[in-house]
Amino acid sequence: ATPTSIMVGTGRAAEMGVLFRKGDALQSLQEVKVVALDKTGTLTAGRPELTDLVIAASFVESEVLRLVAAVETQSEHPIAAAIVRAATTRKLDIPTVDTFASITGFGVSASVEGHNILVGADRLMRRDGIDMGDFADTGAALGKKGRSPLYAAIDGRIAAVIGVSDPIKPTTPAAIAALHDLGLTVAMITGDNQGTADVIARELGIDIVVAEVLPEGKVDALKALQKQGKLAFVGDGINDAPALAQADVGIAIGTGTDVAIETADVVLMSGELTGVVNAFDISGRVMRNIR
Ligand code: ADP
Ligand code: MG
Repeated sequence: ATPTSIMVGTGRAAEMGVLFRKGDALQSLQEVKVVALDKTGTLTAGRPELTDLVIAASFVESEVLRLVAAVETQSEHPIAAAIVRAATTRKLDIPTVDTFASITGFGVSASVEGHNILVGADRLMRRDGIDMGDFADTGAALGKKGRSPLYAAIDGRIAAVIGVSDPIKPTTPAAIAALHDLGLTVAMITGDNQGTADVIARELGIDIVVAEVLPEGKVDALKALQKQGKLAFVGDGINDAPALAQADVGIAIGTGTDVAIETADVVLMSGELTGVVNAFDISGRVMRNIR
């Protein structure tokens, strides 16, 4: 492609809400074989809602929810907002937190009203030696419905299984079908539960699922996928920045975090995956010198 056609292509892309921050990304996109997508906030709306709350026999629902919500007021994870909203809707008074720690990729822990509270993925419970009893099955059943199971422990005892569900963006299914039409392999990378990820991937016809990935594991997951050919990664979060840098073409969702946007080669202004399809389209036209 000539410098002029690249300029024209970059301009046309911008009109469609696709910002090429690096001109050579127009060229690199043509060599891409695999498109890897972050799940939360990229494929899904990134605004989960609490759908299930199963309480262990010796605990009281409103008491568990207010303690768990207290911990979550300190977390910036979208799951945290869903839990706090659920407690607020039920008009529970949420106590203040004494100490708080976020365990990246696992969940959160805090001390509230003298109680030790843990909220997070099953691996957080295992890490801290919490006996989940038959709640492990309860959580797995939620995963089969495409919901994400979380677990809460109070003073070392399992207290609740919490289901949250993050709706798929309405434009996502058609965008994935269009990527397939372009002959691309589509992969999904997520820190979420394997069962939940599998259900969502099957619904969307995604070819490869990499689940339960810790934030620092995203780069390794991409390196493995890059053995299949050049790779574009689409993400929105702070912890997607290393993956965006590792990808041959990093594509950030423009409604995402600044760090992601600054690291990306391409930025989608709309926040919709349709923008990824437009980016491939325009790159194809420019490289074939079609006006
Ligand atoms: P993801 O972007 O896939 O959510 P994270 O590394 O942020 O990846 O989180 C991994 C997992 O840890 C989540 O899927 C969830 O199970 C758990 N987790 C993280 N933060 C919280 C939180 N504030 N409350 C409950 N669970 C959490
Ligand atoms: Mg995300």
